[in-house]
Formats: sequence, C-alpha cells, structure tokens
Amino acid sequence: MGIAILFKNSRGTDPFGKNLRCLVSLAGEELILTSGYATLECKKLIAAIDSGFKDYEQSILITLAGNFGNRCANNNYKTNCNCHYHKYIKFVHYLSKSNASIKKFYIDDQGEWHAKVYIKVRENRPIAMIIGSSNLTWPAYTAGSRRECDVFIWDEEISCELSNIYDIPESEGFRVSAYYEGQEKDLLIKHYNNIKNYINNYKVSRIGNPN
Ligand SMILES: [Zn+2]
Repeated sequence: MGIAILFKNSRGTDPFGKNLRCLVSLAGEELILTSGYATLECKKLIAAIDSGFKDYEQSILITLAGNFGNRCANNNYKTNCNCHYHKYIKFVHYLSKSNASIKKFYIDDQGEWHAKVYIKVRENRPIAMIIGSSNLTWPAYTAGSRRECDVFIWDEEISCELSNIYDIPESEGFRVSAYYEGQEKDLLIKHYNNIKNYINNYKVSRIGNPN
C-alpha cells in the first residue's frame, strides 16, 4: 500500500487537483466522486475521467453530494440560482458530458453528506482513493487561497502507474511514504511537522483565553 498526504499549505500549489486527475485517469471501470459541495466544471477533469474509462465497454460514473442546508424551492434546473443544490445540478449536467456508459448522480436528501471520498475501481477492486478535506470546487481543486489536506492511498500493485506522484516537489507540501519498515511513523512525523510549521510560520491568530 502507498500513502501520501497532500498538503496545500500555500497559494500557488494544487496537489489535490493534480492527484485527483491522476486518480480518475487510472484504468478502471468505475469511478466514485463524493463531496460536500460539488461545483467544479473542468474540461481537463472530464478528459482524465474518460481516459480512465477508455478501455472499458461498461463504465460507471457515480457522484454524491449533499450538504445543502435548506433545499431550494425553485424547480427549474436551468435557473441561475446560486444555492448549493442548483450549483450541484449544474455540475452534474456538465459532468454528464463524460463518455461513461452509466452515470448515477446522487444527492443526500438529508443534506448531511459532507465527506470527500474519491475512489477508482478496477475489476471490482478499489485501487486508489483520495480522502480529504477537498470538495469538488475550484478553490479546493486549483492553486489559490484555500488550505486543504487530503490523503491519497493506493494499492501497491499500481505504484508503477503513479510515477507522476513522485514528481511533485516537497515545497508543494507533498509527502509520499517510502516502502521500508516504519514508513507510517515517518509519514506521521512529517505531516505533524508540516502542520506545526504552518501554525508557527503563517498568519494564524490564537483566539479566546490566552492561557
Ligand atoms: Zn436554488
């Protein structure tokens, strides 16, 4: 198993975007994208999704989002309404340009889904997963002001297909676990140091009782 912690710790980096495109482009028949909010309309992402599906006659694309607060009463899906519900509707219409043979777009009727989990499946087996803080939104996906942490986990058998994962410079807050005994400890220490460094060196205000 490989584990990487993606830490977008400054403006000008997009480790989530890069690695999400990498994950979706892995060959496999199924892709699941779940997010609290989903508004991202990105041609490059759809191209990457379709390249992952290209060798499969039957492919399935599933999305789930859900944290919308009160459901908007406007029934016209073509509305320019700016609520989270209608932004998601707009998003799935955009994503339906994908060549996936089956598309299933879900929303959580309870409005409680807030997890960010992105899964690529090959021959009924999950081969890679990103679990994050990153929603499917431009601020999370692109370089910009939003700070995010995501964990990328993959089956060791596909390591050779992830060569680009090792090209991301450490300055982008990216850490990959090496394959040696104690790798988990090393990964935890590195990410702990990342977080401490961020708190100590960036503009973070302490609130409440100073003692
Ligand atoms: Zn609306």
